[in-house]
Amino acid sequence: MADDFRADLEGELESIKRRGRYRFLRDIGTPARVEITIGDKKYLNFSSNDYLGFATSDQLIDSLGAIGEKWGIGSGASRLICGNMEVHGDLERRIAAFKGTESGLVFSSGYMANLGIVSTLGTPRTTVFSDELNHASIIDGCRLSRARVKVYRHADPGHLEELISTDDGERKLIITDGVFSMDGDIAPLPDLCYLKEKYGAILVVDDAHATGVLGSGGRGTASHFGLSDKVDIQMGTFSKAIGTYGAFICCDAVVRDYFINRCRPLIFNTAIPPLIAALTIRALDMLEEDPQIVDILRGKVKRFTAVLANHGVDVQSETPIIPVIIGSDERTLKISEALLREGYFVYGVRPPTVPEGTARLRVTLSAAHRDDQVEGCAEKIAGLMAALGGDGA
Ligand SMILES: *Cc1c(COP(=O)(O)O)cnc(C)c1O
Repeated sequence: MADDFRADLEGELESIKRRGRYRFLRDIGTPARVEITIGDKKYLNFSSNDYLGFATSDQLIDSLGAIGEKWGIGSGASRLICGNMEVHGDLERRIAAFKGTESGLVFSSGYMANLGIVSTLGTPRTTVFSDELNHASIIDGCRLSRARVKVYRHADPGHLEELISTDDGERKLIITDGVFSMDGDIAPLPDLCYLKEKYGAILVVDDAHATGVLGSGGRGTASHFGLSDKVDIQMGTFSKAIGTYGAFICCDAVVRDYFINRCRPLIFNTAIPPLIAALTIRALDMLEEDPQIVDILRGKVKRFTAVLANHGVDVQSETPIIPVIIGSDERTLKISEALLREGYFVYGVRPPTVPEGTARLRVTLSAAHRDDQVEGCAEKIAGLMAALGGDGA
């Protein structure tokens, strides 16, 4: 590697370290279960997005052999060449039926789906209105698009209306996370639906963290608000609560058709492995056959926040993402390191992932956690906050 190029990278890494923002990869030695090991140490995992425990479901693992025999592993090509197998279409009809939309379209990841949605619809004649806390993949989609982009304050329909009422773009697209990934709060969908109709916009909702979590039987944010017929494009992922991999959009047939013809992250990307598509159909079967699992998950959230409340820590969440705001980067790091020593894997999130001064523990719960594990984690966090101070000071 050229010396000055390498020195450049090393210099930047040094500066990341000096600012306490250095990141590294941890190798987990076990499947994505509640109990994991790193090296020879065991941890209880409170950082995964596998909200229903499907990622290690025995039922899915048992079906691997038969699915592999039927469909093999890889797809071999993009969907438009010869990578589109019957099972991809089956999955799309399946997710559309689950969501009650005219059609569905599968992408290889949520990141790809969001890049695709915003860059494909965001032509120069379009203005995109994006919540300031939207996922990085939406932000990157905005950057890749040729649209005018207007960012509205987080979950603030008043600010959105200010921006949208004075915009002279020919086409308007509002995009929001359904459940915000770092705060676990829910988008103000009724207000967004009102505004999108008033100003002739379309509305896109990213249900990465809402699929399998919110709404009737885990049908997502639109279902949660009874607004399924108002949201033009419901995007979601299979990689979180559904426990597999890949993503989807649920939409009108015309949008699907248009994307097949225009959406570069769909066209120039290898189709998801048919093995994964078939497993995902089975995972959706599991969710539909046993929708109470979504209520079990909600029960874990109530249990966790109740223990914190007993210790005077007021944290609200309607979703399994529970942000425990600590404030300073340093104290957040200290608490998450102490939790690690005690065998709790709780991710500490610091800027630039979250705004300055709002460093936090991002606790995620799963239906697969036992009640005593949930309570133990909340007790431990409350204890450390009391010992180290965690009121944002
Ligand atoms: C995880 C996530 C994505 C990306 O999905 P992947 O399948 O992991 O690429 C997109 N949007 C939100 C809100 C997410 O949390």
